[in-house]
Amino acid sequence: MKPAVSLLAVSALALGLTACAGNQASSLALRAPTATGAVPALGFAATPSADDAFPLRQSFQPAFVSPLAGRSIPVSRLSDIQLADREVVLTFDDGPMPGKTPRILAALKARGVGATFLMVGAMADAYPEIAQDVAAQGHTIGTHTQNHSNLARLSDAAAMAEISAGQLSVAEALEPIGLKPAPFFRFPYLADRPSLRQRIAEQGIVAIDVDVDSKDYFPSSPSLVKERTLAALERHGRGIILFHDIHMRTVEMLPDLLAGLEARGFKVVRLVPADAAPLLASATRAPAL
Ligand SMILES: [Zn+2]
Repeated sequence: MKPAVSLLAVSALALGLTACAGNQASSLALRAPTATGAVPALGFAATPSADDAFPLRQSFQPAFVSPLAGRSIPVSRLSDIQLADREVVLTFDDGPMPGKTPRILAALKARGVGATFLMVGAMADAYPEIAQDVAAQGHTIGTHTQNHSNLARLSDAAAMAEISAGQLSVAEALEPIGLKPAPFFRFPYLADRPSLRQRIAEQGIVAIDVDVDSKDYFPSSPSLVKERTLAALERHGRGIILFHDIHMRTVEMLPDLLAGLEARGFKVVRLVPADAAPLLASATRAPAL
């Protein structure tokens, strides 16, 4: 194993404590394309991408079916993200992280809902198997720069290089299973500027903003994170929720949070790359062969 891994993880954790603070989401199963019986349950081997160019796309987007699961929203530009009342999107930044991300995945699977993971390139370099698990379970993967840099402090060119490096790292992590990250991106620390937003839009990358900040990077108890997030959601009525899959408090509160969402009548909707929508549709209309 690389000796840098543990240092990297600690570094990312430390970043996460203040990161993204910003200036300013049973027996329920995926509906995977298993119709022929020959396709493995995870299905990714059946949908390899032949397109190696950016913008990236993630080609395995099965439907989640559960009482808490809502629709999937095909997204090719920011304006495609229009949430209805009581619709929420779960997003997890800064991973993948051993011991945390796998437990996040288990909690999501238990409730049959999908999320979007905005991965740091260096973390995907260190833990590619976890990144692959996230994709193989049908979640959407976007990126979050290579090194969690504050892009507002970099030139446009340097910032774009950081974004591209992060995309390449996550793409390389997923390459062994034939998938690519979606062209979704979140600014570290939510620190953006108009020129950068325009540049990434020109590259077909969608900036995933935040409506509700769980503030799970503060050292509060898991129950406080949950209550704070649910209270904020009650005020907003809908929204994209920011979490981090690098904190144990996030791991610990997530099952209760998901139960709370369901009790309050929220639906967890998913953002999927527009290119994957036909595959999603075909996955939900698997012929009975
Ligand atoms: Zn972050």
